[in-house]
Amino acid sequence: MSTSTPKTPVQPGIHTQLTHGPFDPHTQHGFVNPAVMHGSTVLFPTARELKNRARAPFSYGLSGTPTTKALEDQLSELEGATGTIVVPSGLAAVTVPLLAFLSAGDHCLVVDSVYFPTRRFCDGTLRRMGVDVEYYDPHIGGGIAELMRPETKVVFLEAPGSNTFEIMDVAAVCAAAHAGGAVTMLDNTWATPIFFRPLDHGVDLSIHALTKYPGGHSDLMMGSVSANATTFAQLRDTQMQIGVNGAPDDTYLVLRGLKTMGIRLERHQSSALALAEWLEGRDDVLQVLHPALPSFPDHALWRRQFKGASGLFGFALDGNAEATERFLDALNVFGLGYSWGGHESLAVPAALADRTIARGPAAGSLIRLQIGLEDVADLQADLEAGFAAVAAG
Ligand SMILES: *Cc1c(COP(=O)(O)O)cnc(C)c1O
Repeated sequence: MSTSTPKTPVQPGIHTQLTHGPFDPHTQHGFVNPAVMHGSTVLFPTARELKNRARAPFSYGLSGTPTTKALEDQLSELEGATGTIVVPSGLAAVTVPLLAFLSAGDHCLVVDSVYFPTRRFCDGTLRRMGVDVEYYDPHIGGGIAELMRPETKVVFLEAPGSNTFEIMDVAAVCAAAHAGGAVTMLDNTWATPIFFRPLDHGVDLSIHALTKYPGGHSDLMMGSVSANATTFAQLRDTQMQIGVNGAPDDTYLVLRGLKTMGIRLERHQSSALALAEWLEGRDDVLQVLHPALPSFPDHALWRRQFKGASGLFGFALDGNAEATERFLDALNVFGLGYSWGGHESLAVPAALADRTIARGPAAGSLIRLQIGLEDVADLQADLEAGFAAVAAG
């Protein structure tokens, strides 16, 4: 790389960052994309360098390769983080930081509208380890100070909430958590760093299921945790104690996905909002849960903190579980299946039986939609077929 003139502006915009990232092609013969490095052993030229391998940029496959480093560096730039770890799933990106900052006897506060497998880990492994887990209202804001105890070591946030899309006052929760000496972590999968940068709002660790929008094509599983200066060393140390890192081909697919994530999200956003508005006008829909709709209870909180909305939202169908089945069975463009963030639209019934506080819509059956990249008219016609099947009884 030429050392005299920087290649990108000093403060590049988000789309320039997504397109280029910090990777320098001239470190790899000018090839535009990072090489996919498959490897365990790293050779050292001398016994002295072998002995001092901790100072080498790479020393063993598990501790990172040029491919994983390229993704870590790009995610750190996007999140405004000191460092990032990549792990084999989004769920691992939740469990590794929880294990890094919790010990027996600690108290952990978790938002009630959390992604269900996160709750399962907290109620299972964390409780078995002797951690006291307590769930709090996503609307608690600074009131979380009243739940803080001397042994509260972690406050876990997710915004918007899984399936019910509550928006939290992130800065207020983090300020109270920090005043009580706890580390804060937020699952940022829905917004991606394009629409929300948790570390700018006082969060210590930002968690992503890279499986979703960064991968973007329903063909990989990966996760990441981006950390600030006070938490990164302990996070990295725990990752290495547990022994998980990104696999080379999946890491490469995420790097590739990031290059188009900006334009994909623009379309996910506009298509999802168009369909949410259309759904809101229907008599057979009781409520639409989409943070960008002015009717959404937390709309103002969303506007104040987020730069946009992605393609995942919910609506309450006027009908029971059997009507939901008829609705889903009539869909042809929407697939019935879990995960989201890919190119294709998906629909699933949303299960809220685990909730103790954030119970979701009072009436109807909640259906979650992931709006993909198809033509909006086709998606709308597909949903119309679903409603027609419900009406036909
Ligand atoms: C999907 C998801 C995860 C887990 O990601 P996987 O890669 O499927 O393990 C974590 N958090 C949220 C909010 C998710 O939607």
